[in-house]
Amino acid sequence: MIEVELKAKLEKDEILNFIRKLEDLGFKRIIKKEETDIYYNGIDRDFRKTDEALRIRKSVNMDGIDNMDIKYVRYYLTYKGPKMDNISKTREELEVQVSDGETTKKILEKLGFKPVKPIVKIREIYKRDDIEISIDEVKDVGNYVEFEKIVEFTSEKENAINELINLMKSLNISKDKLIKTSYLELRDKNE
Ligand code: ATP
Ligand code: CA
Repeated sequence: MIEVELKAKLEKDEILNFIRKLEDLGFKRIIKKEETDIYYNGIDRDFRKTDEALRIRKSVNMDGIDNMDIKYVRYYLTYKGPKMDNISKTREELEVQVSDGETTKKILEKLGFKPVKPIVKIREIYKRDDIEISIDEVKDVGNYVEFEKIVEFTSEKENAINELINLMKSLNISKDKLIKTSYLELRDKNE
């Protein structure tokens, strides 16, 4: 799978207005989650240099346990390949849900993968068809918005990027607000 993704800075006082615009465009609020991400560094190579990622994510549903469709806590194991172009954060993504996050962590650590300090954020997700918009409040980093569409083939990438750029424009986010920096790098800059 290829994750086509754009990320932009969103100031705190712009969020309410932004959500109103999203709803006007037909986006529906799906869920609010707390995500805690542990990234690992490679054994034979430095993932910061190769621009790859290995991650265990703990995802807690903040809308409560009333919503029986969505399990309260979930864990995911994810690999991401290097970014594929200069504007977006598009990259290969391989992700599986794992039932036992703690044991998965132990397996990776036994194999020699080194954990990086976790990144914690509150993420509110809006959706319209196959486009997902995440409004993120990242601890010690700030507020950001991500536009995402998953495609199967590289040939679909260009169209998907353009679709997301146009959507961003109709939400009054200019292209120069786009960033490619990860939350990890943004936090490390702040520290
Ligand atoms: P997603 O879009 O999957 O929900 P996210 O939005 O929470 O993820 P991003 O900022 O898009 O987070 O991605 C975090 C990125 O941090 C990784 O994909 C990777 O490129 C980068 N990264 C991974 N390992 C390291 C490391 N050891 N040091 C610095 N950066 C890393
Ligand atoms: Ca992202």
